[in-house]
Amino acid sequence: MEKQTIVIIGGGITGLTAAYYLQKAIREKKLPYDVKLVEASNRLGGKIQTYKQDGFTIERGPDSIIARKKPGVKLVEELGLKDEMVRNGTGQSYILVEGKLHKMPKGAFMGIPKQIGPFLRSGLVSPIGKMRALLDLTKAKGEEKSDQSLGAFMRRRFGNELVENEIEPLLSGIYSGDIDKMSLMATFPNFYQLEQKYGSLIKGLKQTMPKASQTTGKVPGAFFSFPNGLETIVDKLVENIDQESILLNAAVDHVEKKESGYHVLLSDGNVLKASSLIVTTPHKTIPKLFSQYDFMKVFTEVPSTSVANVAMAFDRSAIKQDIDGTGFVVSRNSDYRITACTWTHKKWPATTPDGKALIRCYVGKPNDQEVVDLTDDEITSIVLNDLNKTMNITAEPDFSVITRWHNAMPQYTVGHLERIATIRKEAQHQIPGVFLTGSSFEGVGIPDCIEQGEKAVVDVLSFLQD
Ligand code: FAD
Repeated sequence: MEKQTIVIIGGGITGLTAAYYLQKAIREKKLPYDVKLVEASNRLGGKIQTYKQDGFTIERGPDSIIARKKPGVKLVEELGLKDEMVRNGTGQSYILVEGKLHKMPKGAFMGIPKQIGPFLRSGLVSPIGKMRALLDLTKAKGEEKSDQSLGAFMRRRFGNELVENEIEPLLSGIYSGDIDKMSLMATFPNFYQLEQKYGSLIKGLKQTMPKASQTTGKVPGAFFSFPNGLETIVDKLVENIDQESILLNAAVDHVEKKESGYHVLLSDGNVLKASSLIVTTPHKTIPKLFSQYDFMKVFTEVPSTSVANVAMAFDRSAIKQDIDGTGFVVSRNSDYRITACTWTHKKWPATTPDGKALIRCYVGKPNDQEVVDLTDDEITSIVLNDLNKTMNITAEPDFSVITRWHNAMPQYTVGHLERIATIRKEAQHQIPGVFLTGSSFEGVGIPDCIEQGEKAVVDVLSFLQD
């Protein structure tokens, strides 16, 4: 009997995870399926890209994986990488508000206070702002049953000041988005659930967040990476996937439905026959792949934002006035173009040779997208100028590595989940066996992408075995 082929489009973390779990299931259950993973570029890993220079380990894209979300750790264990996991250094972090660095109050989660004492002592919010924020403890639950913006939800619970000075810089940073447009249910549904269950986010977080270790009194770093950088997970996945199933430098141009299955048209002129497909590319490419289906056009209207990641290597002696911490995020009411800055040498000491410093900043607020297209020199100069408002860096960097991520951050705006559900329903009806997944769908974080890759495998197998 001829084997059926499952084509995975895109070799980022979602596609690689899908290929890994699919081939594992095929081996273990002796299933009559072949897998082809098609990647447009000349490398695998998508946004996960580790770059090495002069003893530095530089992440051009994501720098770590949150440990709290199970699918990431589960995959790491599957791949035998558990002993290589390195947790982040947990120093003081800051928020820059109206040009001044403020310590992140102890016990805050995503800017939401869990401990009242440190919150009251913090200079981040005025006394009136604090009183307003603490109304969260007694304020009635929201009555919204459908989606709402993350900003509206947080503003209702805590008032504008805490949101703008503390919550917004942290939450919107993750998505490079605008908190007042982002969907609560697609980004932080747990906040909604905590409100509904405990009547207050402060109370809910207090009840549900991990406590400091009894023996050390320390909460372990919430994120992990590997001594050789995040690409370790990509390399290990690739090692565990059949090499013959991987096609590099082959963009999928179009997918055509046939009487039985699909034809997948590649940029090099080849055609793959598929019984089922897992599509993991950024959403903007999907309308082109399925141009004959009007319902896919919705993706052209789903926004994505751009950012640039600026890594700068220095001699430690160049930093005359340092801060005692691991980094800061910038509130939107500050006159800065950087949005966040990490002292990578403190947060991830293994990335930096002794005596050196590695500082990583982001530029590209939703209302400052043009900065991403400036020249390297212009971006470096903007970043140094901003840094020197609070630090004293006397020398040019030994080198900088600037990575521009155009339209790389999918925006989950209000109604995202309903939109996705409608598209999936249409796809199930019109192109059965095609599964759309990845960072444009149910979570941008690496563990979310891993979970989606794993779930797509279950979907494909149940479709083919039906
Ligand atoms: P991608 O990585 O985008 O992979 C999609 C792949 O599809 C690409 O390789 C692309 O070349 C390929 N492709 C596109 N079109 C075609 C085509 N027509 N045919 C074939 N192949 C095609 N997450 C975290 O958890 N932690 C972080 O610290 C973090 N920081 C981030 C920092 C930045 C700058 C960015 C941009 C993202 C960050 N994220 C972070 C998010 C996370 O990195 C991404 O959401 C995740 O890596 C996306 O994986 P993916 O496989 O869904 O998509």
